[in-house]
Amino acid sequence: MRLLIMGPPGAGKGTQAKFIADHFSIPAISTGDIFRANVSQGTPLGVEAKRYMDAGEYVPDEVTNRMVSNRIVESDAEHGFLLDGYPRTLAQVEELDGMIKQTGHQLDAVVVLTVDSEEIVQRLLQRAEIEGRADDTEDVIRRRQEVYAEQTHPLIEVYKARGLVHEVDGLGEVDDVTKRIFASLSETSES
Ligand code: AMP
Repeated sequence: MRLLIMGPPGAGKGTQAKFIADHFSIPAISTGDIFRANVSQGTPLGVEAKRYMDAGEYVPDEVTNRMVSNRIVESDAEHGFLLDGYPRTLAQVEELDGMIKQTGHQLDAVVVLTVDSEEIVQRLLQRAEIEGRADDTEDVIRRRQEVYAEQTHPLIEVYKARGLVHEVDGLGEVDDVTKRIFASLSETSES
């Protein structure tokens, strides 16, 4: 299984990605997590990524693409993977197509979590306050949503045209969202 999970920042992709990946016994690969690990270890990649992340902007494509192409050839991803937070730009879609084609496989499905953007902003603001994340200011939170709407949301149409998209309502209890995802994924595998 080679899967993607998409949706705006704060839609709960990371939480759902783990459940889906466990179910299919594949690794959940989150580019945001890899960047954050590099930031906390102070690697050159982390130092470069941090300035973009702090501003709510995307890390340049060539940096991100290289990181993903190195990650998906690791042995745990041999039989598949779930990418969380990648691709986010059209250039990344094309790059991923090339990476997957090279291995002789194909993308099986794209799970899209739909949620109201304003609702998410309110949720993220609350979380930033509770967790004392002073760097998550309202401006940065709103900028992340804007960048998503401009650069990433259009990719859903690209994958819809390929017949890969499973749109799932991302609002509500975590368990309910997980059930909706599995119901949607099993519909196509049975048809
Ligand atoms: P996330 O945890 O997925 O929201 O990612 C956190 C941050 O990492 C994003 O706001 C971006 O700055 C950066 N990032 C993660 N994935 C990508 C990507 N595919 N392309 C560019 N930047 C990314």
